[in-house]
Amino acid sequence: MEAARRGGLSSGFVPTMGALHEGHRKLIQAARHECDWLAVSIFVNPTQFGPEEDFDTYPRDLDSDLAMCRQLGVDLVFQPGRDEVYPATHRTFVEVETVTSHLCGRFRPGHFRGVATVVLKLLNILQPDRAYFGEKDAQQTVVVRQLVKDLNLPVDIRQVPTVREFDGLAISSRNQHLGPQERRAATVLFRALKEIRTMVLQGARDAGRIRRRGLRLLSQEPLVEVEYLEMVDPETMQPISQVRGPARAAAAIRVGGVRLIDNLLCEDAGR
Ligand code: AMP
Repeated sequence: MEAARRGGLSSGFVPTMGALHEGHRKLIQAARHECDWLAVSIFVNPTQFGPEEDFDTYPRDLDSDLAMCRQLGVDLVFQPGRDEVYPATHRTFVEVETVTSHLCGRFRPGHFRGVATVVLKLLNILQPDRAYFGEKDAQQTVVVRQLVKDLNLPVDIRQVPTVREFDGLAISSRNQHLGPQERRAATVLFRALKEIRTMVLQGARDAGRIRRRGLRLLSQEPLVEVEYLEMVDPETMQPISQVRGPARAAAAIRVGGVRLIDNLLCEDAGR
């Protein structure tokens, strides 16, 4: 990226864990559109997985990832080994406070510590002008923005809208682990979020009532187990009791053994 900068070119970076899909494609295309030089990283980051989580079974498909990167005109695919990122001598981890205290931060202890650490390392290694993250992981973007602000990192963080399947399910590498019945059941997540957004657009303000309506919808699907469903402030990721401005409805569910997350910005244009 240094060479790009020296030549007066702008550089972009899309961090991923591989098993690239249409969501990643959108990020890479956005970056390709805005930057002269583009790097994509593929690294299944062990430190963001808990001991009981799916690090070992996380989907990996390097050949198809490289084909997509080639097709999209990526200049560099950075695919470090585990020991390169975390040599035996590695001692430093980054904790981003407050914005990690709810939602996935609450249910995946240590997850954002792993995310913040690896993102900081990748940004330091690649030194891009811009880095691209998906709205599907909205809390992650907030965490990364906080990290960048607090540690004075010279990078512009861009967020790209969530890419969905035809029936609204947010595309995720983990979707391939859903059986046909689970796949059908999983669509309730986006339906519940859309219902919440409609309530807000129609003037609902009581976050407790809005949340209960969403939970009721989710509970109609017997294969679904709810981890959380919250209305939060989109800037701070803290739960709110009243909708007074833009709010984000965010949820995590389990369908079979698969954990899925999604969120939707609820903005009342007339407010
Ligand atoms: P992952 O490989 O799952 O760590 O994701 C890498 C990046 O792609 C993250 O910034 C994600 O938010 C983003 N991403 C994953 N799925 C989607 C999606 N369906 N739409 C948009 N961005 C996504």
